Amino acid sequence: MRFILVLIVAIGLSGCFSEAEETETYIDPELSGYVTTFFEEAAKRGISIEDKNFRIGFGSVEGEAQGMTYYATRSIVIEKESEGYKLIPEALVYHELGHLFLHRTHDDSMIGQQYKCAKSLMDSRLQINGGQWYVNRRAYYVSELFNPHTSLPDWAF
Ligand SMILES: [Zn+2]
Repeated sequence: MRFILVLIVAIGLSGCFSEAEETETYIDPELSGYVTTFFEEAAKRGISIEDKNFRIGFGSVEGEAQGMTYYATRSIVIEKESEGYKLIPEALVYHELGHLFLHRTHDDSMIGQQYKCAKSLMDSRLQINGGQWYVNRRAYYVSELFNPHTSLPDWAF
């Protein structure tokens, strides 16, 4: 019995230490503006996020994805040459930050007349309609990101 207790304590400690070693935050300078406004938008809504202990930068991701969030290492990789980054970089960065910090999963619901608009920045097909859906509708999409129960905007009817 004593052996089992010691083992559990040891596992617990090693878990703590390995986490502590991963605390070095890195934010690519080109992405830092989007990261900063994301945290500001969170703060405006009274959502407190520990804005440390994560990494975000450019790189290549598998397949069709334009960005990827790796929960285990708290890392976000953005594909710089992707349509999403070229068209609406903020939306792509917010999408990935939504995964990491808000624990949101994909939501491919459609709203708007004839259901042509994405309901959420967490849409898995983020470059939908050439990014035009984000133009002038940012306020709704940012609110929806932080609160999926945000009322649908006027243009959705
Ligand atoms: Zn995603």
